[in-house]
Amino acid sequence: MTLAARAAPENISLSSKPSLVGLTRAGLAEALREKIGTPEREIRMRVAQLWHWIYFQGARDFSAMLNVSKVMRQKLDAHFSLTRPEVVEEQVSADGTRKWLIRMAPVDALDKGAEVECVYIPEADRGTLCVSSQVGCTLNCTFCHTGTQRLVRNLTNQEIVAQLIVARERLGDFPGLTPPDNGLIPSGEGVRAVSNIVFMGMGEPLYNFENVRDAVEILSDGDGLSLSKRRITVSTSGVVPQIERLGAESGAALAISLHAVRDELRDKLVPLNKKYPIKQLLQACRDYPGASNARRITFEYVMLKGVNDSPAEARELVRLLKGIPAKINLIPFNPWPGAPYECSDWSVIEKFSDIVFAAGYASPVRTPRGRDILAACGQLKSETEKLRARARLAAELD
Ligand code: SAH
Ligand code: SF4
Repeated sequence: MTLAARAAPENISLSSKPSLVGLTRAGLAEALREKIGTPEREIRMRVAQLWHWIYFQGARDFSAMLNVSKVMRQKLDAHFSLTRPEVVEEQVSADGTRKWLIRMAPVDALDKGAEVECVYIPEADRGTLCVSSQVGCTLNCTFCHTGTQRLVRNLTNQEIVAQLIVARERLGDFPGLTPPDNGLIPSGEGVRAVSNIVFMGMGEPLYNFENVRDAVEILSDGDGLSLSKRRITVSTSGVVPQIERLGAESGAALAISLHAVRDELRDKLVPLNKKYPIKQLLQACRDYPGASNARRITFEYVMLKGVNDSPAEARELVRLLKGIPAKINLIPFNPWPGAPYECSDWSVIEKFSDIVFAAGYASPVRTPRGRDILAACGQLKSETEKLRARARLAAELD
């Protein structure tokens, strides 16, 4: 039974003025200098003010910025906007999972505005937002829906950060807003609606390194959105040369999409393995700066029936990870129309999980959430959207 509720699409008129939402401090400073000639001695103060209003207060309008002089507010308004990407569709699952289809502002005259999906998963003690780092993905993992998409581009750091801003707005989690009234959003003293971010939506974050790194900086800035870096997890299919850089330059938590314990199979499931095989990948994990028992690396393992789910593979997994501070996440495969795999049977997943658990790993099986709205990570472009995109493309080609 599908209990998904669809909200009417929002109509935000696209502003031609560049939006300041999602910029870094350096980006804001540059915008002020170049567009309105703010004198150097004022820049720090102005950036701090904008930062507070944009990221702490969630302001949508310059007129709300009451500690900024009226003249300055008018100048800001003349040159910039606080436009967010448009929420084209919102779906709410029976279990409280929410999925938003978000349309980014067009980057040029030909661009119709890229669409990405963003999923919110509420649990008793946390709220996790699954964000996208690219539109589509070039990597073609055979079990992943995103890999089948044609269009690919990197999201800017602005577009990555905007996903959290849009989510918090929808969840009523900025001062002055009220949360939607269904009791499923974590709340209470010190509990934020979104406490964790995972880069497990569309795209390979480490193929868009600078934008992801800058976005992590903004998301974790204590004067603004204030997420803890430990609660921001970047998931990669194994772009080995960028893993060390992530540790050195960002300090985000690392997750590895392992999915197989032999190169022969991993070559098929995650074709990037041909370039960076398991041994090299695990060495990069051993060397990951900052990994410790308190900051473990997550290894994701998607359970594919009869493909990678035998007890022998569970034992090999444990052997391979010896010496790495690791957590293991077993992910039931989420089928999509036309997928060449099936999800392992529950009893098989349990057996696999028991072996991993006996070796000393907490091995939570990620419970499928929001299945009624096709909201699983790695599968963030629902069939309806694909059909719509195809119809649009067909219309354009006509
Ligand atoms: N490109 C990055 C992050 C996005 S994919 C990566 O591959 O890690 C996020 C996670 O979802 C990955 O672990 C991916 O393997 C997993 N995933 C993709 N498709 C899936 C599916 N159909 N069912 C379950 N997990 C899937
Ligand atoms: Fe890309 Fe990750 Fe999907 Fe592989 S699993 S195709 S890397 S998004």
